[in-house]
Amino acid sequence: MDTVNLLQLENEEQIELHKKARQFANENVGNNVYFRGLIEFSNMCKNDCLYCGIRKSNNKLIRYSLSKKEILDCAKFCFDNKYSSIVLQSGEGQDIDFVVNLIKSIKTNYDLRITLCLGEYSKQDYQKMFDAGAERYLLRIETTNKELYGQIHPNNMIFENRMKCIKDLKAVGFQVGSGVMVGIPGQTVEDLAKDLDFLKEMDMVGMGPYIPCKETPMNKEINFKKNYDFSLNMVALLRLLSPKINIAATTALQVIRPKGREAALMAGANVIMPIVTPQKYRANYQLYDDKPCVNESSKDCMCCITNRIKSVGLNPALGEFGDSLKYQERVK
Ligand code: SAH
Repeated sequence: MDTVNLLQLENEEQIELHKKARQFANENVGNNVYFRGLIEFSNMCKNDCLYCGIRKSNNKLIRYSLSKKEILDCAKFCFDNKYSSIVLQSGEGQDIDFVVNLIKSIKTNYDLRITLCLGEYSKQDYQKMFDAGAERYLLRIETTNKELYGQIHPNNMIFENRMKCIKDLKAVGFQVGSGVMVGIPGQTVEDLAKDLDFLKEMDMVGMGPYIPCKETPMNKEINFKKNYDFSLNMVALLRLLSPKINIAATTALQVIRPKGREAALMAGANVIMPIVTPQKYRANYQLYDDKPCVNESSKDCMCCITNRIKSVGLNPALGEFGDSLKYQERVK
């Protein structure tokens, strides 16, 4: 069966696909699920992506930036609780000197792997972040269909530039992650199959269903159930295409089904991102409506995530960095 057909599997056949992918994960990356403490340190953004709740034009939210001290406290929480890795995520346009200085401080104080998810910068700036000590970078391509990419982004955001950024990140030496949104209005199954071809070359992938946000121009009716199934099938197929890749069970899945993240783990995902943003800021970092964990504390999220992992018989891999084995193969 080809990818386009496999992506559309339902019922028994779908369960079989997910089982096979989980088994493949066990054989290639083990039964560990790695933690990445997600610090959403600023919702300030210079971009106006048509789908995103923190886009520049959304004036319904209170803009915030955590102080360096607040971010270090989040990092300490992750270190103390053996998460071993953090993700620094924000809207676009963060000051490069602030970022570089922050990375250095975190690395000086805590033995943590750092993933950055800050959007597009020049190769020189990526180099500075890498030299400061960050090991990983996430930049979702959102969709590999250039025309569709153009429809969901403002004119100043260029598909080729995003591709170039991903290439630059690899050249600089990062473990590089990308991803797509599944179920963007106008996206086809063929598009998703092409996305998989692109994503299988990454070291890490985070992808999940597109969830509309009321305060954006792209607030259209979508088929949640279908996008949920496609998202899980994407995870399973990616695992089969790229055995050693790190795949995140993303929070967006949980908007559609309470056990969405567990389902992704069962379909071959091996990374999870508990939110560690201080509770008081969470309501202002809603990329989409009904984002889970907004009323929870970092401690709540830690317990909840640990239980979710155990509930599906996998191992919460606290105390392990969980570097991408795919990356290690790539740079050998
Ligand atoms: N500014 C950073 C971080 C963006 S937020 C960057 O450009 O990389 C991280 C991801 O959230 C985005 O890449 C996008 O794929 C996802 N996202 C944003 N809005 C979303 C929505 N409405 N539904 C699902 N995912 C969304």
